[in-house]
Amino acid sequence: MSDFLTDSFGRPLEYLRLAVTDRCNLRCFYCMPAEGIDYVPRQDLLSYEEMLRLTRIFVQLGVTKIRLTGGEPFIRKNFYGFLKRLTKIDGLDKIAITTNGSVANRHIPFLKEVGITSINLSLDTLNKEKFNKITRRDFFNQAMNTYQAVLDAGIKLSVNMVVMEGENIEDIIPMAMLTQKDNVTIRYIEEMPFNGKGTRNSIGFNHTKILELLTSGLPELSSIPFAYGTTAQEYAIKGHKGKVGIIAAWSRNFCNSCNRIRVTATGHMKNCLYDQGVLNLKRMLTDGSSDQMIYEAIKTGYSKKFKDGLVAEANQTNPISESMSSIGG
Ligand code: SAM
Ligand code: SF4
Repeated sequence: MSDFLTDSFGRPLEYLRLAVTDRCNLRCFYCMPAEGIDYVPRQDLLSYEEMLRLTRIFVQLGVTKIRLTGGEPFIRKNFYGFLKRLTKIDGLDKIAITTNGSVANRHIPFLKEVGITSINLSLDTLNKEKFNKITRRDFFNQAMNTYQAVLDAGIKLSVNMVVMEGENIEDIIPMAMLTQKDNVTIRYIEEMPFNGKGTRNSIGFNHTKILELLTSGLPELSSIPFAYGTTAQEYAIKGHKGKVGIIAAWSRNFCNSCNRIRVTATGHMKNCLYDQGVLNLKRMLTDGSSDQMIYEAIKTGYSKKFKDGLVAEANQTNPISESMSSIGG
């Protein structure tokens, strides 16, 4: 834990999730409609300069880990140049990226070289046809190449699988079996309503059901103590190199130790996925505010963090309608 900023429930701010773009080359149906979402005008996105400035301020406030997400981070122009500069910022111990793996595979050795510490690869099935149906695009082979390239490069790898009843329940065990030979963590994520359509989902297959299914298919499963600041309850499987984890993203049972905030691609600070934003950082970055003013505004914003995601959602004035691609998943 850092000695720096804490919210009114004593939770430190240590982890920043930064969306580097709202654009994406896939159309995963749990994230956005087939026709895509209305992308914001380019000038409304944070520039790399602005992201670097913000990151330095967040580091002063206690942030030691950053995750770059989106949209698809690797499709933003000159992302690699940005990474080079980001990894030079003192005080960041962990720099992670979440990607769909569609265009990243050739560049994985570069990521290792500049010091990216972990990659989360989104992969909801090992079946190519099903992958194409879920993502509405044809990038399965590229995603699998990225999977292998990350392992080969020795970068810590987690796979994110959104669990959807009627779509990929039968893939839960085959995905877990990847851990037999590979040092990978397969993380099963409850589906959330951030699909860009404004429709509220009810979870058919929640974390309890996922665990039941895993335990019946893998009797040698044993739980690993929950680590502070994480969202996944992890399990080891006897004899396997990797492990599995379940993220109750909809049930929200991990908020007690939440140490994270999000900055969207348009520079809105969110204390929680389920709140509607507490601070417009883009405005401050462009209206002549000093670093000190931004620092103080972040402190005030963080003090408004709700006790948990359920309270955050209850305080929304509008029903959830955003795409995860705009928020930064
Ligand atoms: N494009 C990158 C990718 O897919 O990995 C990064 C951005 S994506 C929004 C980040 C993560 O959010 C992915 O792992 C994706 O599966 C997850 N995600 C998107 N929509 C979701 C939803 N409605 N419920 C749960 N997870 C979701
Ligand atoms: Fe794109 Fe990631 Fe959303 Fe899929 S989950 S549409 S890859 S942003």
